This record gives sequence, structure tokens and C-alpha cells, in this order.
Amino acid sequence: MKEVTIQGKTFEVYLSAEEIAELTSTLAAQLNEAYGNFKLDVILISILDGSFIFMADLVRKLTFPHQIHFVKIRSYQDTESTGEVEYVLDVDADVSDKHVVVVEDIIDTGLTIESFVDKLNKSNPLSVKICTLLSKPEVHNDIVDIDFVGKEIPAEFVIGYGLDLNGYGRNLPDIYKLKV
Ligand code: 5GP
Repeated sequence: MKEVTIQGKTFEVYLSAEEIAELTSTLAAQLNEAYGNFKLDVILISILDGSFIFMADLVRKLTFPHQIHFVKIRSYQDTESTGEVEYVLDVDADVSDKHVVVVEDIIDTGLTIESFVDKLNKSNPLSVKICTLLSKPEVHNDIVDIDFVGKEIPAEFVIGYGLDLNGYGRNLPDIYKLKV
């Protein structure tokens, strides 16, 4: 499908499923390289909802021992610009003295990831690194130090491969951008 219409908005293909698979494989290879010789356990924490498909594909390509956890964070930057975040589902892993990798689908303003990494750091992890499939550097202006990036994209709204428009479109195998 080259175009899809969701909730009255038309989107065109931006990254095909094959291109996404290549990005995921490259990221998995980088993580395998970085964590392959670690003696201590690694904890991967995926930020729901958007990253559930990316996480599922990524972890099946990892070759080092790791635990998998999920958090769900709601941010309010689009409504009130307060910078407040709410933990709808909080992390239940003990990250102290562990190496942690936070897995995101997309980093836009960076508010969500920044706030979550700050919170994790209070629990004394050995390290916290960020792995994201997509990043919008024009929006977050590199305020976030991202360790593993699949692809940098312009400041455009994308859906598919877990990313939604008002809850719809997460099932699309390709990633689409809004058609202008
Ligand atoms: P932040 O602005 O805090 O970096 O992004 C928070 C969340 O907003 C992301 O995890 C993602 O769920 C959502 N988001 C950011 N950019 C996009 C986008 O282009 N499309 C969709 N569907 N969600 C986005």
C-alpha cells in the first residue's frame, strides 16, 4: 500500500517494512557489539505503546542475556506545555547495579525519554543507554544524548509499525508520513 487514509488523513509510505527490518538489524548488531561481553545482566525497558512492535523485532535479534520490561508514560507537552509526565504503568524492575537500555519508537521533543532517564538514574543503575528506531533532531535539538539511533527523520508526523494516529494505524507494517 503506497497510501493509507486514517481518520480522514492521508499518509504516504516513508519507510518500507524491508527498510525498517534493516534498521532494526543494524541496531541489534550495535547492541550485540556493545553488550555481548558484559558479565552482568542487561535490562531492556520499552516505552509503551508505540515501541511494542520495534521491541518485539529487536529483542529477537539480540544474542546477549537480558530481561525485558515495559513502562507506559503519558506526557502533556502538546496541551499544557507543563513538561509533566505521568506513569500509567511504572517500571517494576530493580535497576540498581544493572545496565539498562531504554527502547523507544521515536524521539520527538525528548521530554519523555529525558524524564524517564532522570527517574531511572535515581535508582543507581550501572549505566543507562537509549536506543530509538527514529529520532527528530530538528525538534529535540540534540538535547538528548541518544546512544543508538535507527534513523534521523525531519520534523514530520509518522504512523505505522507501532506508531499511531489517535490509537489507529499501529498495525501497518510500513511507516507512513502525512501527505501534504
Ligand atoms: P517526545 O516528544 O516526548 O520525544 O515523544 C513522546 C512520544 O510521542 C513518542 O514516544 C511517540 O509515542 C509520540 N510521537 C512523537 N512523534 C511522533 C510521530 O511522528 N508520530 C506518532 N505517531 N507519535 C509520535
